Amino acid sequence: MGVREEIEALKEKLVKYNHEYYVLDQPSVPDSEYDRLMQSLIQLEEKHPELKTSDSPTVRVGGKVLDAFEKVNHQTPMLSLANAFNASDLRAFDKRVKDTLGKTAISYVCELKIDGLAVSLTYEEGEFILGATRGDGSIGENITENLKTIRTIPLKVDATGRLEVRGEAFMPKASFLKLNEVRLEKDEEPFANPRNAAAGSLRQLDSKVAAKRNLDIFLYAVGEAPVEKEAHSTYLAYLDSLGFKTNKERALCSSIDDVIAYIERWTTKRTDLDYEIDGIVVKVDEIAAQQQLGFTAKSPRWAIAYKFPAEEVVTTLEDVEFSV
Ligand code: NAD
Repeated sequence: MGVREEIEALKEKLVKYNHEYYVLDQPSVPDSEYDRLMQSLIQLEEKHPELKTSDSPTVRVGGKVLDAFEKVNHQTPMLSLANAFNASDLRAFDKRVKDTLGKTAISYVCELKIDGLAVSLTYEEGEFILGATRGDGSIGENITENLKTIRTIPLKVDATGRLEVRGEAFMPKASFLKLNEVRLEKDEEPFANPRNAAAGSLRQLDSKVAAKRNLDIFLYAVGEAPVEKEAHSTYLAYLDSLGFKTNKERALCSSIDDVIAYIERWTTKRTDLDYEIDGIVVKVDEIAAQQQLGFTAKSPRWAIAYKFPAEEVVTTLEDVEFSV
């Protein structure tokens, strides 16, 4: 097979898997297989830039909007994240950040990468008026009524003007196991994993279904706010002060070695959590630095998502070798 054909075959597979995952909420391959194919495509396109097209899955946010829902235009795009699979990917990210900023020390916020779906919540004069999915990054689905069934989402907050916050809606492990038990009893197809169960529950036209599914949320970003802060960590503290649920396991790290140590800790500790995480998100803390680093069409250059290996036989990150 020539390179052109190889690229076409990879794109075709990834488009099919995106459809199964984002539209049908029923993936047919594990995430690790999807990630492996995506890395192969990224590498081939890097080697042969003349074969890279603007519709490639490597440059587009994967989601799709279902016609049954009212569409929502995101004021600020809801993007994906670049991925890291080992310590050397993380060190390369750290080097890129330092080189671009011309700095020798960077503070990073490490957060658990919750395996759910990204949602946006908009408040007008403190009142929750709109909830949306990420969709294709520019246009999402209006799922306000379904999100209102999540008890940890405040319907009123003490904020003036317009406030848009972002986070991950998810289904706790216990709720997922119970839901699948009931589905099997009723001869219904079980959900593949809590992520797909959460996405399937929130993209229902009848909000009574979502209400029964015991979903939860962690907020992790501010899209638009009536206040300005200097760091991502202070925006998270601001979310806490308004009564939003943020994840308390986050840590401020002053070096990439600290980041790697945090990841190693969570690689073993993650099974203790009562919700699933599929990695660790590493974000440059300083907002001015984030602005200087900017975005690609698909993801911010100031953040990276480390993905846990599919099989947990790893002791230190330095040992992990990602191969395609
Ligand atoms: P991503 O999952 O690599 O990262 C971006 C997402 O991380 C954000 O949109 C947000 O929803 C989430 N997130 C969780 N915690 C976060 C935090 N603390 N801070 C910021 N973001 C946080 O990228 P993606 O584009 O959403 O999805 C691609 C991934 O989905 C693939 O790598 C694969 O794992 C999976 N996928 C699987 C299949 C399949 O067939 N199995 C198909 C498509 C996608």
